[in-house]
Amino acid sequence: MMKEKPDIKSMNLPELVSFVENLGEKPFRAKQLYEWMHRNLSESIEEMTNLSAGFREKLKEECTYTVLKQTDVQISKQDGTRKYLFMLEDGNVIESVWMRYKFGNSVCISSQAGCRMGCRFCASAIGGLERNLLPSEMLEQVYRIQKDTDERVSRVVVMGTGEPLDNYDSLLRFIRLLTDEGGLHISQRNLTVSTCGLVPEILRLADEKLQITLAVSLHAPTQKKRLALMPIASKYDVEQVRDACRYYFEKTGRRITFEYALAAGVNDGNEDAYNLADLLIGQNCHVNLIPINPVKERKFFSSDQEAVLSFKNKLEKNGIHVTIRREMGRDIDAACGQLRKKYMERRWVT
Ligand code: SAH
Repeated sequence: MMKEKPDIKSMNLPELVSFVENLGEKPFRAKQLYEWMHRNLSESIEEMTNLSAGFREKLKEECTYTVLKQTDVQISKQDGTRKYLFMLEDGNVIESVWMRYKFGNSVCISSQAGCRMGCRFCASAIGGLERNLLPSEMLEQVYRIQKDTDERVSRVVVMGTGEPLDNYDSLLRFIRLLTDEGGLHISQRNLTVSTCGLVPEILRLADEKLQITLAVSLHAPTQKKRLALMPIASKYDVEQVRDACRYYFEKTGRRITFEYALAAGVNDGNEDAYNLADLLIGQNCHVNLIPINPVKERKFFSSDQEAVLSFKNKLEKNGIHVTIRREMGRDIDAACGQLRKKYMERRWVT
């Protein structure tokens, strides 16, 4: 079997040093290479002009240089949100979103091509999992977007397609490279990872000594309701998830964000609000209410504004910190796997 070539954009500096030494080069070449990749965001080895032509040739033969190809970009007329479709080496497509906020630019990236978690309201779940993304493929979404917009990205959220904790090792590598001072040096506090609640991985992540924000998709306050929306609940029940989050806070001092997508008549009633307050009482956390994005194939509809506000009030009365997510890019399908899905459907019919 042919051995796969090493993916140098997924390597940390010490690994890169031993890689270039094996090619007969001095260790400082690794530093230069690292800078071209993670600082200058180079699109090709060809651009790396302070490396000798011979070394560049060797690199082209001996390694994989991962670069994403931009297939499509849609720009919202409402708020400037940009939705990108990128093509991977093997023809899979993934999507990423760029949002401009007062405090800086934010990118939402995918962690897998597809997803196997099967949440009932989510467009990304429909086709199942294609494959995990490499650390380089996660980084590249940020790199290509920063280059394309020519503006610094200051926040990254891993909330696009995929379950990041189902791709744990690549996620950790991605986090370390993205926040490394030799690269884009994005602050760990400006990085959010969202999970549907994989308990063993939440516990493991808590012990990594990171300062990232963990967002946990709760979406229902009781085990019975959650199970109807999220198949993963059959593996880890809602109290186990809540307790893992408590452990995460104790270990890291970072307050958990619970995401709660409100669907009319499903999880937005008075009783749901009180049950949620009950579940979270005494926990240092924050609830982010998201009016659910209706997805064509799914029969869920967004709660109206009155229901959202009343839900928020009930939580606040019980001492829970709540925000309502600002919706961006509605006019460009900037939500939850919708553009990727459209693209794939287009491909199937041609
Ligand atoms: N797998 C991870 C991250 C990707 S999903 C997770 O489950 O958290 C990112 C967020 O979008 C999750 O909170 C997810 O539940 C939510 N989401 C998915 N489909 C949605 C929809 N149609 N409307 C609103 N939020 C949705």
